[in-house]
Amino acid sequence: MTLDDAEAFAVAAGWPRFRGEQIWRWVHDKGARTFDEMTNLAPAVRAELATRAVIGCLTVAEVQTSKDGTRKLRLVTRDGFSIETVLIPGADKVTQCISSQVGCAVDCQFCATAKLGLKRNLDAGEIVDQVYLGRRLLAEAEPDKRISNLVYMGMGEPLHNYENLVTSLRILTHDKGAKLAQRRITVSTSGLVPKLEKLGAEDVRPNLAVSLNAPNDAVRDEIMPINRKWNIGKLLAALKAYPLEQRRRITFEYVLLAGVNDSLSDAAQLARLLRGFKCKLNIIPYNPHPEAVYARPTSAVVEAFQNECKRLGMSTYLRIPRGDDIDAACGQLANRSNGSPVVPLRVRKGPPPPPPVE
Ligand code: SAH
Ligand code: SF4
Repeated sequence: MTLDDAEAFAVAAGWPRFRGEQIWRWVHDKGARTFDEMTNLAPAVRAELATRAVIGCLTVAEVQTSKDGTRKLRLVTRDGFSIETVLIPGADKVTQCISSQVGCAVDCQFCATAKLGLKRNLDAGEIVDQVYLGRRLLAEAEPDKRISNLVYMGMGEPLHNYENLVTSLRILTHDKGAKLAQRRITVSTSGLVPKLEKLGAEDVRPNLAVSLNAPNDAVRDEIMPINRKWNIGKLLAALKAYPLEQRRRITFEYVLLAGVNDSLSDAAQLARLLRGFKCKLNIIPYNPHPEAVYARPTSAVVEAFQNECKRLGMSTYLRIPRGDDIDAACGQLANRSNGSPVVPLRVRKGPPPPPPVE
């Protein structure tokens, strides 16, 4: 529910409108997961509320912690699907990576999520609940740390789930709710051109990351079939027209695949392509997973590629793999546990179970 929905819910229940806001703030600002925590509501109201509504829509099925401190949470939806979210600690901040879909339909050849296919979109509640469960876990495990940055880079293609993406952004950035700063949120996309144009016209403005991954159409066609629909020319034209906030830059993600897109001439083509763009390049050495045929380039090749990009004037970052020992790094999210086979996406068949008893 958005704040408006919660107010309408209160009115429909025969309560004053402001009660909707009270309840909404408890959930989104204070992180309440039971009605009993809502101490400014009379006990009778809380009891009635519990007959009309539930809080939260995901349950934590499993938490894995990497050697480097990264935590991966496997979360289960009411209808039994598993999704994943990852908490990545940095020197002075924690970044949370969230999922937008169960699986993904885009079929990038190097990505583990692609192999799951698309099962369904997450609704806005399931997107935001990942953040609240992540916050909760961190508060228990490391109370001195807070999640400061949010990236939509988990399972799924956020722009394929456009309405829920935008609703989740509105909820998470609401100044009466979770209060996340727009400049600390990044949406990553494989490049759905019409939806990029639509996003540019919204009142919420997250940062944008675009999975480019290739210096030309021939390579991109091969590794990202979506390029056959919206090629690099169309993608870059849409991005040129994207209304960037002042001082912000588009991030281009570039997964380095040995022998595919990692040569010095690839770097030169890339530099030509992106000349004049307000952008930065995020180089991601390929993270292996069993279903893909690719390999990670040696660190010498990675370094040479990055140096060439820098020499040609690009501002580049090297994304060091985080949590790869628990399959939590970029492109590895596929409901795998301790290296064991994929946990079935759907662990339960049939209608949604009753709400959990707190
Ligand atoms: N669907 C969105 C967001 C999720 S993927 C998108 O594609 O942008 C997040 C990032 O992980 C993308 O930049 C993608 O290119 C990268 N990625 C996918 N598989 C990878 C792998 N095996 N190794 C490294 N990065 C990978
Ligand atoms: Fe989907 Fe992104 Fe993976 Fe491509 S890289 S299959 S768009 S999750």
